[in-house]
Amino acid sequence: TDFKSDKQPTWCPGCGDFGTMNGMMKALANTGNDPDNTFIVAGIGCSGKIGTYMHSYALHGVHGRALPVGVGVKAANPELEVMVAGGDGDGYSIGVGHFIHAVRRNMDMTYVVMDNRIYGLTKGQFSPTSREDFETTTSPEGPQQAPVNPLALALAAGGTFIAQSFSSDAQRHAEIVQKAVEHDGFGFVNVYSPCVTFNDVDTYDYFRDSLVDLGEDDEYDPTDYDQATDVILDSEKEYQGVIYQNEESVSYNESHGLTENMADIPDGAPEDAMDLVREFY
Ligand code: SF4
Repeated sequence: TDFKSDKQPTWCPGCGDFGTMNGMMKALANTGNDPDNTFIVAGIGCSGKIGTYMHSYALHGVHGRALPVGVGVKAANPELEVMVAGGDGDGYSIGVGHFIHAVRRNMDMTYVVMDNRIYGLTKGQFSPTSREDFETTTSPEGPQQAPVNPLALALAAGGTFIAQSFSSDAQRHAEIVQKAVEHDGFGFVNVYSPCVTFNDVDTYDYFRDSLVDLGEDDEYDPTDYDQATDVILDSEKEYQGVIYQNEESVSYNESHGLTENMADIPDGAPEDAMDLVREFY
């Protein structure tokens, strides 16, 4: 697509991040966006390189801080399609505070987390989403603590769009990210994106065999908060699909009149927008 840059990814062959990125590019193209109106903000980690591999405006932020930058970009120029990308280490460890507040802010943007349940770039330490008994070189007996449930955090923070996908299920993944882009508010997608080099437990085969697709369940209604809560708190199964969507959602930028590029406002930006930017920087 137009969104592919001419840089060759240095991800390990077979890394789930290839599929995650392809789906993001497809979702952006399918929603009528182009590189000129798209801004990617990336965190730190293997996933953080994505802004180089995609052809759009991009900023490679500091560790765990991609979300507030994305919120600031959207506040300053709501005409841009803002997509923030990061990993589970970046987003759910050092960045978890920003995650909660970005969710509750409900800015009209998309957050894609490449969740491989490990720190890949630093060579295989357990991450916030690693299993309790996941053995690594730095945790020979496993982390010995329950993993973070990012979907539950998002629901508790008042999330209006919560989804999960699998990088290898290309069409479904792109479709789910597309729905997140189309949502009026903070579209959050946790993507199972296997690390083939350091994680031999949460593999392609594991996800292929265990994923339950909510899109194939006629009884499942993502607008039903109680049903969504049951799925999110079910630790026995792995799910993909749009898990929760509040169809009444109105994004922060819409409800606060942030509709114009600040650079185009002759008398200066609305005070509301400036307050928001000050809060983040
Ligand atoms: Fe992907 Fe893991 Fe390699 Fe990083 S270390 S590029 S996450 S396979």
